[in-house]
Amino acid sequence: MKEYTTLRWVLLGAGIIAILGLTGMNVYSLYALRETTIESERENRKLEITEMTEKIRNRFLVPYSGLSKVDMDHEEKKFRSTGHFTGHLMARIQRAAQDPIYEGVYYLPADSWACNNNGDILKYDRESKHLVSVNDYPDLVCDGAVMARTRMKVLIDEYLFNNKVIFDTHRSMTLALINLSNREVFGYLTMLIDQDHLINDYLAGLLTNKFGEAEQSGAIVWLRDWTRNETIASSDPDKAFGEYDIHYHQKFPDLFDDWRLKVSFTDNPAIAASKASLIKNMIVLGAAFFLLLGALVFMFITAQRERSLAKRQAGFLANVTHELKTPLTVMQAAGENLADGRVIDRERLKSYGNHIYNEAVRLKRMIEKLLDVAKADANQSMIEPKPIRPGRLLKSYLDNHRNFIESRGFELDLDIPDKLPRIMMDPENFETVLGNLIENAIKYSQGDKYLGISMKHNDSTLRIVVEDRGVGISKKSVKYIFDKFYRVEDVMTASTKGHGLGLSIVKNLVELNGGTIDVESEEGEGSKFILEFPVLTETVADEEQVSSTVPSSEKAPYEYVEEQ
Ligand code: ADP
Repeated sequence: MKEYTTLRWVLLGAGIIAILGLTGMNVYSLYALRETTIESERENRKLEITEMTEKIRNRFLVPYSGLSKVDMDHEEKKFRSTGHFTGHLMARIQRAAQDPIYEGVYYLPADSWACNNNGDILKYDRESKHLVSVNDYPDLVCDGAVMARTRMKVLIDEYLFNNKVIFDTHRSMTLALINLSNREVFGYLTMLIDQDHLINDYLAGLLTNKFGEAEQSGAIVWLRDWTRNETIASSDPDKAFGEYDIHYHQKFPDLFDDWRLKVSFTDNPAIAASKASLIKNMIVLGAAFFLLLGALVFMFITAQRERSLAKRQAGFLANVTHELKTPLTVMQAAGENLADGRVIDRERLKSYGNHIYNEAVRLKRMIEKLLDVAKADANQSMIEPKPIRPGRLLKSYLDNHRNFIESRGFELDLDIPDKLPRIMMDPENFETVLGNLIENAIKYSQGDKYLGISMKHNDSTLRIVVEDRGVGISKKSVKYIFDKFYRVEDVMTASTKGHGLGLSIVKNLVELNGGTIDVESEEGEGSKFILEFPVLTETVADEEQVSSTVPSSEKAPYEYVEEQ
Protein backbone atom coordinates (compact mmCIF):
# COMPACT_ATOMS: atom_id res chain seq x y z
CA MET A 1 0.00 0.00 0.00
CA LYS A 2 2.79 2.38 1.06
CA GLU A 3 4.81 1.86 -2.14
CA TYR A 4 1.67 2.45 -4.16
CA THR A 5 1.16 5.80 -2.43
CA THR A 6 4.72 6.83 -3.26
CA LEU A 7 4.26 5.51 -6.80
CA ARG A 8 1.04 7.51 -7.16
CA TRP A 9 2.79 10.71 -6.08
CA VAL A 10 5.72 9.96 -8.38
CA LEU A 11 3.31 9.35 -11.28
CA LEU A 12 1.40 12.53 -10.51
CA GLY A 13 4.67 14.48 -10.47
CA ALA A 14 5.80 12.80 -13.69
CA GLY A 15 2.43 13.51 -15.31
CA ILE A 16 2.56 17.17 -14.34
CA ILE A 17 6.16 17.46 -15.54
CA ALA A 18 5.20 15.75 -18.82
CA ILE A 19 2.25 18.11 -19.36
CA LEU A 20 4.38 21.14 -18.48
CA GLY A 21 7.20 19.89 -20.71
CA LEU A 22 4.93 19.19 -23.66
CA THR A 23 3.18 22.51 -23.30
CA GLY A 24 6.48 24.34 -22.92
CA MET A 25 7.88 22.65 -26.02
CA ASN A 26 4.78 23.47 -28.00
CA VAL A 27 4.79 27.09 -26.91
CA TYR A 28 8.46 27.31 -27.79
CA SER A 29 8.00 25.78 -31.28
CA LEU A 30 4.97 27.98 -31.96
CA TYR A 31 6.98 31.07 -31.06
CA ALA A 32 9.97 29.83 -33.02
CA LEU A 33 7.75 29.21 -36.05
CA ARG A 34 6.34 32.71 -35.83
CA GLU A 35 9.82 34.21 -35.41
CA THR A 36 11.08 32.25 -38.42
CA THR A 37 8.17 33.46 -40.54
CA ILE A 38 8.80 37.04 -39.47
CA GLU A 39 12.54 36.72 -39.98
CA SER A 40 12.23 35.18 -43.44
CA GLU A 41 9.70 37.82 -44.51
CA ARG A 42 12.12 40.53 -43.32
CA GLU A 43 15.05 38.91 -45.11
CA ASN A 44 13.00 38.88 -48.30
CA ARG A 45 12.28 42.60 -47.92
CA LYS A 46 16.00 43.32 -47.32
CA LEU A 47 16.89 41.39 -50.44
CA GLU A 48 14.33 43.32 -52.44
CA ILE A 49 15.79 46.60 -51.17
CA THR A 50 19.32 45.56 -52.14
CA GLU A 51 18.09 44.54 -55.59
CA MET A 52 16.33 47.88 -55.91
CA THR A 53 19.48 49.92 -55.17
CA GLU A 54 21.41 47.84 -57.71
CA LYS A 55 18.70 48.46 -60.22
CA ILE A 56 18.88 52.24 -59.59
CA ARG A 57 22.62 52.25 -60.13
CA ASN A 58 22.30 50.27 -63.33
CA ARG A 59 19.65 52.67 -64.55
CA PHE A 60 22.35 55.37 -64.82
CA LEU A 61 24.73 53.10 -66.65
CA VAL A 62 22.32 51.73 -69.24
CA PRO A 63 23.17 54.32 -71.98
CA TYR A 64 26.83 53.36 -71.66
CA SER A 65 26.49 49.62 -71.78
CA GLY A 66 29.24 48.02 -73.86
CA LEU A 67 31.53 51.05 -73.45
CA SER A 68 34.44 48.84 -72.38
CA LYS A 69 34.58 47.46 -75.90
CA VAL A 70 35.11 50.89 -77.46
CA ASP A 71 38.68 51.57 -78.60
CA MET A 72 39.58 54.63 -76.56
CA ASP A 73 42.96 55.11 -78.22
CA HIS A 74 41.15 55.43 -81.50
CA GLU A 75 38.51 57.75 -80.01
CA GLU A 76 41.18 60.05 -78.54
CA LYS A 77 43.01 60.24 -81.84
CA LYS A 78 39.78 60.85 -83.73
CA PHE A 79 38.82 63.65 -81.34
CA ARG A 80 42.22 65.30 -81.61
CA SER A 81 42.12 65.28 -85.38
CA THR A 82 38.42 66.10 -86.02
CA GLY A 83 36.96 67.43 -82.78
CA HIS A 84 34.46 64.53 -82.85
CA PHE A 85 34.24 61.01 -81.57
CA THR A 86 33.47 57.95 -83.67
CA GLY A 87 29.95 56.64 -83.96
CA HIS A 88 30.61 54.06 -81.19
CA LEU A 89 31.03 56.67 -78.51
CA MET A 90 28.65 59.20 -80.05
CA ALA A 91 25.81 56.68 -80.13
CA ARG A 92 26.19 56.21 -76.38
CA ILE A 93 26.38 59.95 -75.69
CA GLN A 94 23.23 60.35 -77.77
CA ARG A 95 21.43 57.64 -75.77
CA ALA A 96 22.36 59.36 -72.51
CA ALA A 97 21.17 62.73 -73.86
CA GLN A 98 17.78 61.20 -74.68
CA ASP A 99 17.35 59.69 -71.23
CA PRO A 100 15.10 61.97 -69.11
CA ILE A 101 17.18 61.17 -66.04
CA TYR A 102 19.96 63.39 -67.46
CA GLU A 103 19.58 67.11 -67.98
CA GLY A 104 22.55 67.53 -70.29
CA VAL A 105 25.74 65.80 -71.41
CA TYR A 106 29.02 67.77 -71.36
CA TYR A 107 32.56 66.88 -72.44
CA LEU A 108 35.77 68.27 -70.99
CA PRO A 109 38.98 67.25 -72.74
CA ALA A 110 41.71 66.62 -70.15
CA ASP A 111 44.31 68.73 -71.97
CA SER A 112 42.26 71.93 -72.32
CA TRP A 113 40.84 72.13 -68.80
CA ALA A 114 38.26 74.91 -69.16
CA CYS A 115 37.03 74.70 -65.57
CA ASN A 116 40.04 76.60 -64.28
CA ASN A 117 39.41 79.72 -66.31
CA ASN A 118 35.68 79.42 -66.94
CA GLY A 119 36.42 78.80 -70.61
CA ASP A 120 34.25 77.06 -73.22
CA ILE A 121 33.35 73.43 -72.84
CA LEU A 122 31.55 71.01 -75.13
CA LYS A 123 27.92 70.06 -74.74
CA TYR A 124 25.93 67.50 -76.69
CA ASP A 125 23.43 69.30 -78.88
CA ARG A 126 20.25 67.29 -79.51
CA GLU A 127 19.42 69.18 -82.70
CA SER A 128 22.71 68.80 -84.53
CA LYS A 129 23.60 65.58 -82.66
CA HIS A 130 27.13 66.98 -82.20
CA LEU A 131 29.28 68.26 -79.38
CA VAL A 132 29.12 72.05 -79.56
CA SER A 133 31.13 74.64 -77.68
CA VAL A 134 29.25 76.45 -74.88
CA ASN A 135 30.30 79.13 -72.42
CA ASP A 136 27.20 79.24 -70.30
CA TYR A 137 27.03 76.07 -68.21
CA PRO A 138 26.14 75.27 -64.57
CA ASP A 139 28.92 75.05 -61.97
CA LEU A 140 27.78 71.52 -61.33
CA VAL A 141 29.46 70.39 -64.56
CA CYS A 142 32.87 71.45 -63.31
CA ASP A 143 32.13 70.13 -59.79
CA GLY A 144 31.49 66.68 -61.22
CA ALA A 145 34.44 66.76 -63.63
CA VAL A 146 36.87 68.04 -61.00
CA MET A 147 35.77 65.38 -58.61
CA ALA A 148 36.35 62.71 -61.25
CA ARG A 149 39.76 64.15 -62.12
CA THR A 150 40.86 64.10 -58.48
CA ARG A 151 39.66 60.55 -58.06
CA MET A 152 41.41 59.38 -61.23
CA LYS A 153 44.73 60.80 -60.08
CA VAL A 154 44.65 58.30 -57.27
CA LEU A 155 43.23 55.42 -59.24
CA ILE A 156 44.88 55.55 -62.62
CA ASP A 157 48.03 53.51 -61.86
CA GLU A 158 46.13 50.39 -60.87
CA TYR A 159 43.06 50.87 -63.04
CA LEU A 160 42.35 48.23 -65.70
CA PHE A 161 39.28 49.47 -67.58
CA ASN A 162 38.83 52.11 -70.24
CA ASN A 163 36.27 54.15 -68.33
CA LYS A 164 35.34 54.96 -64.77
CA VAL A 165 32.00 56.17 -63.46
CA ILE A 166 32.10 58.73 -60.63
CA PHE A 167 29.02 60.21 -59.03
CA ASP A 168 28.86 63.64 -57.44
CA THR A 169 26.24 62.46 -54.92
CA HIS A 170 22.86 62.84 -56.66
CA ARG A 171 23.85 65.86 -58.75
CA SER A 172 25.92 64.51 -61.63
CA MET A 173 27.60 61.46 -63.06
CA THR A 174 30.98 61.71 -64.77
CA LEU A 175 32.62 59.15 -67.03
CA ALA A 176 36.39 59.36 -67.13
CA LEU A 177 37.51 58.14 -70.58
CA ILE A 178 40.78 56.27 -70.28
CA ASN A 179 43.28 55.50 -73.02
CA LEU A 180 44.73 52.23 -71.82
CA SER A 181 47.68 52.38 -74.24
CA ASN A 182 49.26 55.30 -72.36
CA ARG A 183 47.22 54.97 -69.17
CA GLU A 184 45.88 58.48 -69.27
CA VAL A 185 42.45 59.99 -68.94
CA PHE A 186 41.91 61.99 -72.10
CA GLY A 187 38.51 63.46 -71.27
CA TYR A 188 35.52 63.61 -68.93
CA LEU A 189 31.91 63.12 -69.96
CA THR A 190 29.70 64.74 -67.31
CA MET A 191 25.96 64.17 -67.20
CA LEU A 192 23.85 66.46 -64.99
CA ILE A 193 21.09 64.55 -63.23
CA ASP A 194 17.54 65.87 -63.47
CA GLN A 195 16.64 66.00 -59.73
CA ASP A 196 12.95 66.44 -60.25
CA HIS A 197 12.65 63.50 -62.61
CA LEU A 198 14.98 61.37 -60.49
CA ILE A 199 13.10 61.90 -57.25
CA ASN A 200 9.49 62.40 -58.21
CA ASP A 201 9.17 60.18 -61.23
CA TYR A 202 11.78 57.56 -60.93
CA LEU A 203 12.59 56.89 -57.26
CA ALA A 204 9.14 57.68 -55.81
CA GLY A 205 7.56 55.53 -58.53
CA LEU A 206 9.97 52.69 -57.85
CA LEU A 207 9.33 52.78 -54.09
CA THR A 208 5.55 52.85 -54.36
CA ASN A 209 5.50 50.15 -57.03
CA LYS A 210 7.82 47.87 -55.18
CA PHE A 211 6.53 48.29 -51.61
CA GLY A 212 3.36 50.40 -51.74
CA GLU A 213 0.85 49.87 -48.92
CA ALA A 214 2.76 48.76 -45.84
CA GLU A 215 -0.04 46.40 -44.73
CA GLN A 216 0.48 44.39 -47.92
CA SER A 217 4.25 44.55 -48.43
CA GLY A 218 5.26 44.39 -44.77
CA ALA A 219 7.70 47.31 -45.09
CA ILE A 220 7.69 51.10 -45.20
CA VAL A 221 10.69 52.52 -47.04
CA TRP A 222 11.70 56.18 -46.77
CA LEU A 223 14.36 57.82 -48.93
CA ARG A 224 16.12 60.22 -46.55
CA ASP A 225 18.72 62.92 -47.09
CA TRP A 226 20.75 62.49 -43.90
CA THR A 227 22.70 65.70 -44.35
CA ARG A 228 19.49 67.71 -44.29
CA ASN A 229 17.52 65.27 -42.17
CA GLU A 230 14.56 65.25 -44.51
CA THR A 231 12.45 62.72 -46.34
CA ILE A 232 12.79 62.83 -50.11
CA ALA A 233 10.39 60.09 -51.12
CA SER A 234 8.59 57.17 -49.49
CA SER A 235 6.88 53.93 -50.40
CA ASP A 236 3.70 54.77 -48.49
CA PRO A 237 3.15 58.54 -48.28
CA ASP A 238 0.51 58.08 -45.52
CA LYS A 239 3.17 56.85 -43.11
CA ALA A 240 5.26 59.65 -41.63
CA PHE A 241 8.91 59.02 -40.91
CA GLY A 242 9.61 59.25 -37.17
CA GLU A 243 6.38 57.59 -36.14
CA TYR A 244 7.76 54.12 -36.73
CA ASP A 245 10.75 52.20 -35.42
CA ILE A 246 13.50 51.84 -38.00
CA HIS A 247 14.66 48.24 -38.33
CA TYR A 248 17.02 48.46 -41.26
CA HIS A 249 18.82 50.98 -43.43
CA GLN A 250 20.72 50.76 -46.66
CA LYS A 251 23.17 52.93 -48.59
CA PHE A 252 23.26 53.20 -52.37
CA PRO A 253 26.33 51.58 -53.90
CA ASP A 254 28.70 54.34 -55.27
CA LEU A 255 25.98 56.92 -55.76
CA PHE A 256 23.79 59.27 -53.70
CA ASP A 257 26.26 59.45 -50.80
CA ASP A 258 24.03 61.74 -48.79
CA TRP A 259 20.91 59.59 -49.22
CA ARG A 260 19.85 56.54 -47.27
CA LEU A 261 16.95 54.13 -47.44
CA LYS A 262 15.36 53.73 -44.01
CA VAL A 263 13.07 50.76 -43.49
CA SER A 264 10.46 49.93 -40.93
CA PHE A 265 9.07 46.39 -41.03
CA THR A 266 5.37 45.93 -40.39
CA ASP A 267 3.04 42.94 -40.44
CA ASN A 268 2.19 41.77 -43.92
CA PRO A 269 -0.61 39.21 -44.51
CA ALA A 270 1.80 36.28 -44.09
CA ILE A 271 3.04 37.59 -40.72
CA ALA A 272 -0.46 38.58 -39.60
CA ALA A 273 -1.71 35.08 -40.47
CA SER A 274 1.19 33.53 -38.57
CA LYS A 275 0.46 35.71 -35.52
CA ALA A 276 -3.27 34.92 -35.66
CA SER A 277 -2.51 31.22 -35.91
CA LEU A 278 -0.13 31.55 -32.94
CA ILE A 279 -2.90 33.10 -30.83
CA LYS A 280 -5.37 30.39 -31.88
CA ASN A 281 -2.86 27.67 -31.14
CA MET A 282 -2.03 29.22 -27.78
CA ILE A 283 -5.72 29.29 -26.82
CA VAL A 284 -6.21 25.65 -27.81
CA LEU A 285 -2.97 24.70 -26.08
CA GLY A 286 -3.93 26.61 -22.94
CA ALA A 287 -7.34 24.95 -22.83
CA ALA A 288 -5.78 21.51 -23.40
CA PHE A 289 -3.17 22.22 -20.73
CA PHE A 290 -5.71 23.14 -18.07
CA LEU A 291 -7.99 20.30 -19.10
CA LEU A 292 -5.21 17.73 -18.90
CA LEU A 293 -3.85 19.12 -15.66
CA GLY A 294 -7.35 19.30 -14.19
CA ALA A 295 -8.11 15.73 -15.29
CA LEU A 296 -4.83 14.48 -13.85
CA VAL A 297 -5.29 16.22 -10.51
CA PHE A 298 -8.95 15.16 -10.41
CA MET A 299 -8.01 11.54 -11.08
CA PHE A 300 -5.32 11.72 -8.44
CA ILE A 301 -7.60 13.22 -5.81
CA THR A 302 -10.36 10.74 -6.63
CA ALA A 303 -7.91 7.86 -6.40
CA GLN A 304 -6.66 9.16 -3.05
CA ARG A 305 -10.21 9.48 -1.76
CA GLU A 306 -11.22 6.05 -3.01
CA ARG A 307 -8.17 4.66 -1.36
CA SER A 308 -8.84 6.26 1.98
CA LEU A 309 -12.51 5.25 1.75
CA ALA A 310 -11.51 1.68 1.01
CA LYS A 311 -9.12 1.80 3.95
CA ARG A 312 -11.78 3.17 6.26
CA GLN A 313 -14.32 0.70 4.94
CA ALA A 314 -11.96 -2.20 5.61
CA GLY A 315 -11.34 -0.91 9.13
CA PHE A 316 -15.05 -0.50 9.62
CA LEU A 317 -15.84 -4.07 8.56
CA ALA A 318 -13.36 -5.52 11.02
CA ASN A 319 -14.73 -3.26 13.70
CA VAL A 320 -18.40 -3.79 12.99
CA THR A 321 -18.07 -7.58 13.02
CA HIS A 322 -16.62 -7.29 16.48
CA GLU A 323 -19.34 -4.79 17.48
CA LEU A 324 -22.12 -7.12 16.30
CA LYS A 325 -20.62 -10.11 17.99
CA THR A 326 -20.14 -8.47 21.39
CA PRO A 327 -23.82 -7.77 22.18
CA LEU A 328 -24.78 -11.14 20.76
CA THR A 329 -22.25 -12.90 23.00
CA VAL A 330 -23.54 -11.04 26.03
CA MET A 331 -27.15 -11.82 25.11
CA GLN A 332 -26.28 -15.45 24.41
CA ALA A 333 -24.58 -15.88 27.80
CA ALA A 334 -27.40 -14.11 29.67
CA GLY A 335 -30.05 -16.08 27.72
CA GLU A 336 -28.26 -19.36 28.46
CA ASN A 337 -28.20 -18.64 32.18
CA LEU A 338 -31.88 -17.75 32.13
CA ALA A 339 -32.82 -20.78 30.04
CA ASP A 340 -30.94 -23.11 32.41
CA GLY A 341 -33.28 -21.91 35.14
CA ARG A 342 -30.31 -21.45 37.38
CA VAL A 343 -31.06 -17.81 37.99
CA ILE A 344 -34.12 -17.40 40.16
CA ASP A 345 -33.21 -14.44 42.30
CA ARG A 346 -35.42 -11.45 41.29
CA GLU A 347 -32.60 -8.91 41.31
CA ARG A 348 -30.35 -11.05 39.16
CA LEU A 349 -33.21 -11.86 36.83
CA LYS A 350 -33.77 -8.10 36.42
CA SER A 351 -30.10 -7.50 35.84
CA TYR A 352 -29.93 -10.25 33.16
CA GLY A 353 -33.08 -8.82 31.57
CA ASN A 354 -31.53 -5.33 31.52
CA HIS A 355 -28.34 -6.68 29.98
CA ILE A 356 -30.25 -8.42 27.22
CA TYR A 357 -32.42 -5.35 26.66
CA ASN A 358 -29.50 -2.91 26.52
CA GLU A 359 -27.48 -5.11 24.19
CA ALA A 360 -30.51 -5.61 21.95
CA VAL A 361 -30.99 -1.82 21.78
CA ARG A 362 -27.35 -1.35 20.95
CA LEU A 363 -27.59 -3.99 18.24
CA LYS A 364 -30.72 -2.42 16.84
CA ARG A 365 -29.13 1.05 16.71
CA MET A 366 -26.11 -0.34 15.00
CA ILE A 367 -28.19 -2.16 12.41
CA GLU A 368 -30.31 0.97 11.91
CA LYS A 369 -27.24 3.02 11.23
CA LEU A 370 -25.92 0.48 8.77
CA LEU A 371 -29.25 0.38 7.01
CA ASP A 372 -29.39 4.19 6.85
CA VAL A 373 -25.96 4.30 5.24
CA ALA A 374 -26.83 1.52 2.83
CA LYS A 375 -30.03 3.32 1.83
CA ALA A 376 -28.24 6.61 1.39
CA ASP A 377 -25.63 4.87 -0.76
CA ALA A 378 -28.32 3.34 -2.92
CA ASN A 379 -30.29 6.60 -3.00
CA GLN A 380 -33.14 4.76 -1.38
CA SER A 381 -33.61 6.79 1.77
CA MET A 382 -37.36 7.05 2.24
CA ILE A 383 -38.56 10.12 4.02
CA GLU A 384 -42.01 11.26 4.92
CA PRO A 385 -41.78 15.01 5.40
CA LYS A 386 -44.55 16.69 7.35
CA PRO A 387 -44.95 20.17 8.72
CA ILE A 388 -43.35 19.88 12.16
CA ARG A 389 -42.86 22.18 15.11
CA PRO A 390 -39.13 21.86 15.80
CA GLY A 391 -39.35 23.40 19.31
CA ARG A 392 -41.92 20.91 20.45
CA LEU A 393 -40.15 17.96 18.92
CA LEU A 394 -36.90 18.97 20.59
CA LYS A 395 -38.56 19.41 23.96
CA SER A 396 -40.26 16.06 23.67
CA TYR A 397 -36.95 14.47 22.68
CA LEU A 398 -35.22 16.05 25.65
CA ASP A 399 -38.00 14.97 28.00
CA ASN A 400 -37.11 11.42 27.12
CA HIS A 401 -33.36 11.90 27.40
CA ARG A 402 -32.79 14.72 29.89
CA ASN A 403 -32.00 12.31 32.70
CA PHE A 404 -29.40 10.58 30.70
CA ILE A 405 -27.74 13.81 29.59
CA GLU A 406 -27.69 15.24 33.09
CA SER A 407 -26.54 11.97 34.60
CA ARG A 408 -23.46 12.31 32.39
CA GLY A 409 -22.71 15.57 34.16
CA PHE A 410 -23.78 17.83 31.29
CA GLU A 411 -25.17 21.28 31.82
CA LEU A 412 -27.99 21.71 29.33
CA ASP A 413 -28.37 25.24 27.99
CA LEU A 414 -31.51 25.69 25.90
CA ASP A 415 -32.40 28.79 23.95
CA ILE A 416 -35.70 27.94 22.30
CA PRO A 417 -38.19 30.78 21.69
CA ASP A 418 -41.82 30.01 22.47
CA LYS A 419 -42.90 30.81 18.99
CA LEU A 420 -41.12 29.17 16.14
CA PRO A 421 -42.22 28.67 12.56
CA ARG A 422 -42.90 25.17 11.30
CA ILE A 423 -40.54 23.38 8.97
CA MET A 424 -41.14 20.53 6.56
CA MET A 425 -39.31 17.46 7.78
CA ASP A 426 -39.68 13.79 8.52
CA PRO A 427 -40.07 13.78 12.33
CA GLU A 428 -38.09 10.56 12.66
CA ASN A 429 -35.24 12.11 10.73
CA PHE A 430 -35.40 15.15 13.03
CA GLU A 431 -34.91 12.90 16.00
CA THR A 432 -32.08 10.94 14.36
CA VAL A 433 -30.27 14.13 13.43
CA LEU A 434 -30.57 15.68 16.88
CA GLY A 435 -29.78 12.37 18.58
CA ASN A 436 -26.55 11.98 16.65
CA LEU A 437 -25.39 15.54 17.25
CA ILE A 438 -26.18 15.38 20.96
CA GLU A 439 -24.58 11.95 21.22
CA ASN A 440 -21.40 13.30 19.61
CA ALA A 441 -21.37 16.38 21.85
CA ILE A 442 -21.45 14.08 24.86
CA LYS A 443 -18.95 11.60 23.43
CA TYR A 444 -16.37 14.21 22.47
CA SER A 445 -16.42 16.36 25.63
CA GLN A 446 -14.05 15.80 28.53
CA GLY A 447 -13.49 18.68 30.94
CA ASP A 448 -16.18 21.26 30.30
CA LYS A 449 -19.45 19.35 30.01
CA TYR A 450 -21.65 21.87 28.33
CA LEU A 451 -24.41 21.15 25.81
CA GLY A 452 -26.09 24.16 24.25
CA ILE A 453 -29.04 23.90 21.88
CA SER A 454 -30.54 27.00 20.35
CA MET A 455 -33.12 27.74 17.68
CA LYS A 456 -33.51 31.05 15.87
CA HIS A 457 -35.39 32.05 12.80
CA ASN A 458 -36.04 34.78 10.31
CA ASP A 459 -38.67 35.00 7.57
CA SER A 460 -37.15 32.27 5.50
CA THR A 461 -34.86 30.14 7.63
CA LEU A 462 -34.82 28.26 10.89
CA ARG A 463 -31.36 27.87 12.41
CA ILE A 464 -30.65 25.13 14.94
CA VAL A 465 -27.29 25.12 16.70
CA VAL A 466 -25.95 22.24 18.78
CA GLU A 467 -22.89 23.40 20.67
CA ASP A 468 -20.37 21.78 22.99
CA ARG A 469 -17.15 22.81 24.70
CA GLY A 470 -15.45 19.51 24.11
CA VAL A 471 -12.30 18.50 22.29
CA GLY A 472 -13.16 20.29 19.06
CA ILE A 473 -11.92 19.33 15.61
CA SER A 474 -8.69 20.39 13.95
CA LYS A 475 -8.83 22.50 10.77
CA LYS A 476 -7.34 19.77 8.64
CA SER A 477 -9.93 17.17 9.78
CA VAL A 478 -13.02 19.33 9.83
CA LYS A 479 -13.61 19.08 6.07
CA TYR A 480 -13.80 15.29 6.24
CA ILE A 481 -16.06 14.71 9.23
CA PHE A 482 -19.20 14.35 7.10
CA ASP A 483 -17.50 11.66 5.00
CA LYS A 484 -18.58 8.10 5.47
CA PHE A 485 -16.37 6.09 7.88
CA TYR A 486 -14.23 9.11 8.67
CA ARG A 487 -13.00 9.41 12.24
CA VAL A 488 -10.56 12.03 13.42
CA GLU A 489 -7.27 10.43 14.30
CA ASP A 490 -6.69 11.58 17.86
CA VAL A 491 -6.49 10.11 21.34
CA MET A 492 -10.04 11.11 22.23
CA THR A 493 -11.60 9.52 19.17
CA ALA A 494 -9.45 6.44 19.58
CA SER A 495 -10.79 5.90 23.08
CA THR A 496 -14.40 6.50 21.99
CA LYS A 497 -16.50 3.92 20.24
CA GLY A 498 -17.87 4.85 16.89
CA HIS A 499 -17.70 4.07 13.19
CA GLY A 500 -17.63 7.43 11.49
CA LEU A 501 -21.17 6.98 10.21
CA GLY A 502 -23.23 9.32 12.42
CA LEU A 503 -22.39 12.61 10.73
CA SER A 504 -22.63 11.18 7.23
CA ILE A 505 -26.14 9.96 8.07
CA VAL A 506 -26.97 13.35 9.63
CA LYS A 507 -25.82 15.25 6.56
CA ASN A 508 -27.71 12.93 4.23
CA LEU A 509 -30.95 13.27 6.22
CA VAL A 510 -30.65 17.04 6.60
CA GLU A 511 -30.14 17.46 2.88
CA LEU A 512 -32.93 15.05 2.00
CA ASN A 513 -35.23 17.25 4.07
CA GLY A 514 -34.11 20.39 2.22
CA GLY A 515 -31.73 21.71 4.88
CA THR A 516 -28.02 22.39 5.19
CA ILE A 517 -25.48 21.51 7.85
CA ASP A 518 -22.27 23.28 8.71
CA VAL A 519 -19.71 23.08 11.46
CA GLU A 520 -17.59 25.62 13.28
CA SER A 521 -14.96 24.10 15.48
CA GLU A 522 -11.75 25.02 17.28
CA GLU A 523 -9.45 22.32 18.51
CA GLY A 524 -9.61 22.24 22.32
CA GLU A 525 -12.41 24.81 22.40
CA GLY A 526 -15.50 22.92 21.25
CA SER A 527 -17.76 22.56 18.25
CA LYS A 528 -20.90 24.11 16.87
CA PHE A 529 -23.08 22.20 14.41
CA ILE A 530 -25.37 24.58 12.56
CA LEU A 531 -28.47 23.31 10.80
CA GLU A 532 -30.63 25.47 8.58
CA PHE A 533 -34.05 24.61 7.19
CA PRO A 534 -36.44 26.66 5.10
CA VAL A 535 -39.49 27.66 7.16
CA LEU A 536 -43.05 27.09 6.05
CA THR A 537 -44.98 30.22 5.28
CA GLU A 538 -48.42 28.82 4.58
CA THR A 539 -50.71 27.90 7.43
CA VAL A 540 -50.41 24.24 8.16
CA ALA A 541 -51.92 21.49 10.22
CA ASP A 542 -53.48 22.29 13.53
CA GLU A 543 -51.91 21.69 16.91
CA GLU A 544 -53.29 18.20 17.26
CA GLN A 545 -51.95 17.06 13.97
CA VAL A 546 -48.56 18.49 14.71
CA SER A 547 -48.25 16.99 18.13
CA SER A 548 -49.40 13.65 16.82
CA THR A 549 -46.31 13.57 14.65
CA VAL A 550 -44.12 13.47 17.70
CA PRO A 551 -42.74 9.99 17.85
CA SER A 552 -41.67 8.99 21.27
CA SER A 553 -43.47 6.22 23.04
CA GLU A 554 -42.88 3.64 20.31
CA LYS A 555 -39.27 4.50 19.87
CA ALA A 556 -36.67 3.07 22.10
CA PRO A 557 -35.51 5.66 24.60
CA TYR A 558 -32.16 7.26 24.04
CA GLU A 559 -29.71 4.61 24.97
CA TYR A 560 -26.25 5.87 24.52
CA VAL A 561 -24.02 3.43 26.27
CA GLU A 562 -20.55 4.70 26.85
CA GLU A 563 -18.23 1.92 26.00
CA GLN A 564 -14.57 1.83 26.77
P1 ADP B 1 -18.31 8.55 15.16
O1 ADP B 1 -18.72 9.46 16.25
O2 ADP B 1 -19.05 7.26 15.15
O3 ADP B 1 -16.84 8.37 15.08
P2 ADP B 1 -19.37 10.56 13.37
O4 ADP B 1 -19.65 10.50 11.91
O5 ADP B 1 -20.51 10.90 14.25
O6 ADP B 1 -18.70 9.22 13.76
O7 ADP B 1 -18.24 11.62 13.59
C1 ADP B 1 -17.10 11.61 12.79
C2 ADP B 1 -15.91 12.14 13.55
O8 ADP B 1 -16.07 13.54 13.78
C3 ADP B 1 -15.77 11.55 14.92
O9 ADP B 1 -14.98 10.39 14.87
C4 ADP B 1 -15.11 12.66 15.72
O10 ADP B 1 -13.72 12.55 15.62
C5 ADP B 1 -15.57 13.91 15.04
N1 ADP B 1 -16.66 14.58 15.78
C6 ADP B 1 -18.00 14.48 15.55
N2 ADP B 1 -18.71 15.26 16.41
C7 ADP B 1 -17.78 15.88 17.21
C8 ADP B 1 -17.87 16.80 18.30
N3 ADP B 1 -19.05 17.25 18.72
N4 ADP B 1 -16.72 17.22 18.88
C9 ADP B 1 -15.51 16.77 18.43
N5 ADP B 1 -15.38 15.87 17.41
C10 ADP B 1 -16.48 15.45 16.79
